[in-house]
Amino acid sequence: MQKSNHYLFIEAAVQRILSNDPEATSFQEEFYRMKAGLAGEKKLKNTLSDFSFKSDYSIFYNFECVNDRGFTHQIDALLITPYFILIFEVKQLSGKLFYKPLFHEFTRVTENQTHDNFPNPFDQVYRHKLFIKQFLQKLNITMPVLQLVVIANYRAELDISLEGFPIIHLSGLPRHLEKLYAENNHMKVNIDYICSQLKRLIHPLPARKTLARCRLKSGVLCQKCEYMSRMHYQRGFWKCEKCRSKSRVALLETLHHYRVLISPRISNKELREFTGIKSTFAASKILTRLNLEKYGATKGSYYLIPEDIYYKGDD
Ligand SMILES: [Zn+2]
Repeated sequence: MQKSNHYLFIEAAVQRILSNDPEATSFQEEFYRMKAGLAGEKKLKNTLSDFSFKSDYSIFYNFECVNDRGFTHQIDALLITPYFILIFEVKQLSGKLFYKPLFHEFTRVTENQTHDNFPNPFDQVYRHKLFIKQFLQKLNITMPVLQLVVIANYRAELDISLEGFPIIHLSGLPRHLEKLYAENNHMKVNIDYICSQLKRLIHPLPARKTLARCRLKSGVLCQKCEYMSRMHYQRGFWKCEKCRSKSRVALLETLHHYRVLISPRISNKELREFTGIKSTFAASKILTRLNLEKYGATKGSYYLIPEDIYYKGDD
């Protein structure tokens, strides 16, 4: 599952932010929320992968772009079929969900009776819907653009006030799709053209936060110690000074942190400052061994950290 730049930023921030930073807890909370959201999107992906579609189809997950007016759209999933386009908003909320349509107010009541208002998902998808409609209009294509809020947490309870609105539990998605196919069988468009045009719109959005370098821990940090202790290079391995565990990839994760939190460019000096490696020669050997692309010569030279420097798998 493609993680957004914002997700990668928050994930790395939680691992690197100084524990006494006033915002450390709020980053942690945001990370939990985002992790739950990603889990919901994965569940949607599984359900859609298992569905036998009645036509050609294409799905874009985490579709990010900027519209003509410079505002951003972040669509959880976008399903393109020859008969209709369906915009998904995935929610991994728990508790009981209520809706006051007149006020566009969306409320969650938890088990211990806490009331929280949430950004109204219907208004969120509606905004995306107008955008997709305009996009189709420009291509001279007329076809139904539909919206659906999917609740990925089966424990969540939907209040009757939500009846009649495009919101369902994930388990009901296969039947809902069959219904949409049955109701929208008039038009048939070539989805290849639409998809190629949509691909051209994709514009991965930058993280919505920043963190100054001085708020981050330095060093190659130990994953097993939850990034609380440093590791040192010893005979081909990085070894934790606390739990003594060894890692071959800890430095790659450190470079990933640097890329996501600070910059994709790193100089020899910046590498030494961030990792704690003392010798210029050792740092330069590491950079060469990693095969990072080098730009510029002598003083102002820097290396480019690739996006996939540290691949943790699909977690
Ligand atoms: Zn450790």
